[in-house]
Amino acid sequence: MRKKNIAILGSTGSIGCSTLEVIRHLADRFHVSYLTAHRNIDLLTEQIARFKPHGVVVLEERNAAALRERIGTATEILSGVDGILEIVTRADVDLVLSSLVGFAGLAPTLAAIRAGKDIALANKETLVVGGEIIMKTVQESGVRLTPVDSEHSAILQCLQGEDPKSIGRLILTASGGPFLHLDRKHFGTITRAQALNHPTWRMGNKITIDSATLMNKGLEVIEAFWLFGIPHEQIEVVIHPQSIIHSMVEFVDGSIKAQLGVPDMKIPIQYALTYPDRPAAPYRRVDFGALREMTFFPPDLEKFRCLALAYRALKRGGTAPAVLNAANERAVELFLDERIPFSTIPSLIQEALEAHTPAPVVTMDDLVRADREARDFITRHASAAVSY
Ligand code: MG
Repeated sequence: MRKKNIAILGSTGSIGCSTLEVIRHLADRFHVSYLTAHRNIDLLTEQIARFKPHGVVVLEERNAAALRERIGTATEILSGVDGILEIVTRADVDLVLSSLVGFAGLAPTLAAIRAGKDIALANKETLVVGGEIIMKTVQESGVRLTPVDSEHSAILQCLQGEDPKSIGRLILTASGGPFLHLDRKHFGTITRAQALNHPTWRMGNKITIDSATLMNKGLEVIEAFWLFGIPHEQIEVVIHPQSIIHSMVEFVDGSIKAQLGVPDMKIPIQYALTYPDRPAAPYRRVDFGALREMTFFPPDLEKFRCLALAYRALKRGGTAPAVLNAANERAVELFLDERIPFSTIPSLIQEALEAHTPAPVVTMDDLVRADREARDFITRHASAAVSY
């Protein structure tokens, strides 16, 4: 079989690195044609030496210049968002793995879909914000979009061979994050370091904070809505701290299918890249003797208000999820900069949602405007919130 050319957007992040590990053992199926990185040019230099891509993109031109000085002209080096938008449309790209962080992932993903490229999507914010436009463009372009997120990969696997009409509900599992058992009255004093210490998954900073607030699960509910076309009333969340069941589908006859595995992103990444094939993989296996038990309980929506806010935004529709996402991105940034307390994250997002009148999403401009307004709103209100 002809090797597929893959472009990896965000190759020096956690998902990007795991994807390159997957490709190393699937070297008979994939060739890395492009890599893009934010600012880690040391790691990018190593990746270039090992995978010999046709070209790379770094976000800032000064880093691109530094890289050119270091490695010479054998590999094409572009810079900026324009560089990413250009490489995703090139002929030597069959598949784009998008693991950019946040709203920034939307435009390159859309450009790749329009250019007829298949997508392995790790950037959930793309669907949260632009689900309507993305899914419509996927249909029109006839490309394949597969989820990398472990929950959505699990659901996709459970749905193989099933009639979509037989779906009763989707049950997304959540580890619960580091503050599952912490009393709500202590949420105001949670530090950056405590919030970045996730019990089961090793990930980038933004998604780790989202996992601690459970906003990550809220974003995944919206992502599932768009990917599988299931109404919000039929999407549920259950806390499962061991992170062995990655999600479940209940069918109309009461049968439930679940997908299980060790919490290792290489497994869903491989499935997204090779779908619907399932090649052998050398990763760790579940040891049920050592696991002993799996537990489940409902999420506490009073404590984890971000999850409730995500459902609310999904119900309101239109530009509301874009506002939810932008408000969250900005609030998380402020928390990571230690400028607002942890407990202020949901308060600010709620204020932004309440101040916003959702409009229909017709073009990208509608989303860009909603995104910018929500970020500005949070910046203004955050300074007010911490000034007393
Ligand atoms: Mg997930």
